[in-house]
Amino acid sequence: MKRTTPIPTKSEIPAALILTAAGSSTRMGSATSGVPAHKKEYIPLNGGTVLSSAARIFLETIHFPLVVVTYPFHENKIDDDTALTQCKAAFFADKELIRYTQNSENNSHELTAVIFVRGGSTRQSSVLNALEAVQTWFTSHEKGTACTGSSDPLVFIHDAARPFVTAKIINDTALAASTYGAAVPALQPVDTQKEVDSNGMIVRHLVRSQLAAVQTPQVFRLTPLLTAHRKAAAEKKEYTDDTEIWDTYAADKTNARVHVVPGDSANKKITYPEDIQHEQEKKMIHTGLGYDLHRLTEGRKLVLGGVVIPFNKGEDGHSDGDVLLHAVTDALLGASGLGDIGSFFPPSDPQWKDADSCMLLKTVWNKITAAGWKLINMDCVIALEQPKFLPYRDQVCNRIAEVLGCDKSQIFVKAKTGEKLGDIGEGRAVEAWVTCLLEK
Ligand code: MG
Repeated sequence: MKRTTPIPTKSEIPAALILTAAGSSTRMGSATSGVPAHKKEYIPLNGGTVLSSAARIFLETIHFPLVVVTYPFHENKIDDDTALTQCKAAFFADKELIRYTQNSENNSHELTAVIFVRGGSTRQSSVLNALEAVQTWFTSHEKGTACTGSSDPLVFIHDAARPFVTAKIINDTALAASTYGAAVPALQPVDTQKEVDSNGMIVRHLVRSQLAAVQTPQVFRLTPLLTAHRKAAAEKKEYTDDTEIWDTYAADKTNARVHVVPGDSANKKITYPEDIQHEQEKKMIHTGLGYDLHRLTEGRKLVLGGVVIPFNKGEDGHSDGDVLLHAVTDALLGASGLGDIGSFFPPSDPQWKDADSCMLLKTVWNKITAAGWKLINMDCVIALEQPKFLPYRDQVCNRIAEVLGCDKSQIFVKAKTGEKLGDIGEGRAVEAWVTCLLEK
């Protein structure tokens, strides 16, 4: 694991990362007293949590001497201790982060110090608490002097619930903030934007090209931002985000407006459980291919997909000879990697004589589903000169779906003739090809 860029800022400006995880995640479902069962920042993700995933991409991208994580505020000491413990556990859930961070034995300058700071009752007050901690840390660690001007540290404020932030966004905001004093990533809205009043009436038609949907990290010079936050707190004013606080209190003084860099639609904030569900459940998808051929002979039943089709010939074979189900079974076994039909039911074994292929398929399918696989879909081709297959298609699809316990819409079967050519066309054999997709 290597950092993609050593430090992208102009003059090796030290940088602190604030990860805000002090919210209550009310839209993720109910939380019981002090124990956020569904706290979005603590949900498992990529071998760690949402919080640790966010932290890791920052630490892999540039060197942060300091990371501050805010955790939820609780009046009561026990709940407060629990909240701190949970936050630490969520951060260090990714063991790789231990390698990046300082502990009592390992205290190198290359590593990152991690401080957990109790949040406030609002996001703004949580960020202020974190900024005070950053200021205190830099004052005591950077030769005892507060940094100002071009050596003033950069502070990245990032929603811990945005675990898909990219290295490009981190680098771009770092560079822009070191140049302009403040930077944020933003996307131009895709939908036409309107301003709506409290009665739900459109009152203003906004110009989409002049709008920006702001993401995080929001990156600023520490000293002016902290000063601005202190003023906002002293005036007891609540702002939507740190860029508004910066614009209200710091931009004029420093002549630095917030610079916008391109955001990324992947850098979304997890708000509802479904936002992360597909990430948590990244599926393995396997394809399978099955093929079979049986001779057609008089005195045997023609069985296709578990359905007996009236005809004067049927498949020769050790079992009932159901060519379609044999191809189905092999396709499913191939996709799951569990074997093939011959290894499960050797023709040399007398117990499979005249066996019902539905039963053979069911036996195999139970093993495949026990290994965690689910069927996405299956597509089948039968090559048969006579009789006409179409009248039986529905019945065959239904029967296969029934054996596999899936919906009929997941199974499709079509038939071709051999144009009177070769073994198929001359009615001596029947063939089947089956493809399937399995997921787990
Ligand atoms: Mg066969």
